[in-house]
Amino acid sequence: MRPIAVAFLAVVIVAGAFTAFYGVTSRSAPPERAGTDRPQVVLFVGDGMGLATVTAARIEKGTREGLPHPSAARLHIDEAPAAALVTTHSEDGLVTDSAASATAFLTGSKVPNGVVSWRRASDGAVDSLETVLELAIRQGLATGVVTTTRLTHATPACTFAHVPDRGWETEIAAALVPEGGNPRLGRGIDVILGGGFREFLPSGPTRPGTRTDGRDILAELERSGYQVVRTRSELAQAAAANSEKLFGAFAPSHMTYEIDRESTSPNEPSLLEMVQSAVGQLRNKPNGFFLLVEGGRIDHAHHDTNGRRAIEEMLEFDEAIGWTVDALGPDALVLVTADHDHSMVLAGYAPAESGVFSQAGTDVNGVPYSTILYANGPGGEVPTELDESVLRNPDFRERAGVPLRSETHGGTDVPLYLFGPRAKERTSRATIDNTEIYGILRDEVLGGSPKS
Ligand SMILES: [Zn+2]
Repeated sequence: MRPIAVAFLAVVIVAGAFTAFYGVTSRSAPPERAGTDRPQVVLFVGDGMGLATVTAARIEKGTREGLPHPSAARLHIDEAPAAALVTTHSEDGLVTDSAASATAFLTGSKVPNGVVSWRRASDGAVDSLETVLELAIRQGLATGVVTTTRLTHATPACTFAHVPDRGWETEIAAALVPEGGNPRLGRGIDVILGGGFREFLPSGPTRPGTRTDGRDILAELERSGYQVVRTRSELAQAAAANSEKLFGAFAPSHMTYEIDRESTSPNEPSLLEMVQSAVGQLRNKPNGFFLLVEGGRIDHAHHDTNGRRAIEEMLEFDEAIGWTVDALGPDALVLVTADHDHSMVLAGYAPAESGVFSQAGTDVNGVPYSTILYANGPGGEVPTELDESVLRNPDFRERAGVPLRSETHGGTDVPLYLFGPRAKERTSRATIDNTEIYGILRDEVLGGSPKS
């Protein structure tokens, strides 16, 4: 047995101990909630959605709307009645990865980079930190997870799995099975939509999976009562049928970038369509719900110093937020934040009418440079001319200062936008830590009064 498998077994055993502690087993019915409150809580996480990404998306929206000054446009998130800045550092780093950050805002605990809702205490015991999604299930709420990445990727994994290394995606996938997976999930998460079906299927010469344990997790989920869908049309049919439990995985790995989806992968739903399906399934649940939505590929495009795809992903993410806020109305608490920033900046003095995909000026050698730039990363070849056909090409990579194979995350504070009841009372200070987002979510899930 691999050392990590031994460690994982320990996690499973500890998880079993927690099951006994909470008195919740995978067979038990959800508890009745006291009172009549019905929390509707949605957390949108823009992976890598720093403020430069937000501003760039706003300018691009204004250009598309034909505004005289494109910066006058408003994103849906700009309409939030309250906002704060959020510090994102991990336990061991100035700059966080997605796992440590998601663990912070989903469990309230700082962990080192790469760790998924898991901590080793000073006495050596393993503590699988309870996530706000698990708390919601314990309170009898319905739950959902939607992402454009693999469902086993860091951000979604931090809602439902407990492992010391985000690379253990085989184990993360297995945690979703109601019988024998993570017992804190009870009868299972009600709606799970994203990419990464390869992590749920066995590997073999004619098989599309990557699992070496021979398990077909999709079949196991079906036996546990899930309707499993693999295409956009199957999702639409399932949403219309209002399935009791729904699992959709629409791509072998991450889902296709929004800008390429219709041309290369028309069988994949958009993020907006997945959110519409999930909210449709969850909004009428009698005890309320908690839903995590990740716009996961903003981050991937940035790692590639590909500003155009990052901004397209951001605009689709913002559309999904706008639709959700309108659909759920003023009683739903909708939070929007990022797990971390990136090294992208908007700089130089391009005229307003040029928009964000523009030439900002020329450097000391007379070489043109673009308004979007990266501090580090792969970057692109420096073209001698930066006209619109070059700058708006989806494959164009902006220049990067320090050459790296993959651009890095940034350590700057990120925004938090708050919609819904008592939005302005949820944060008492301008700058909060990402662990404090957990407190806001927890208070609403518990139906209590807001603190901090
Ligand atoms: Zn990243």
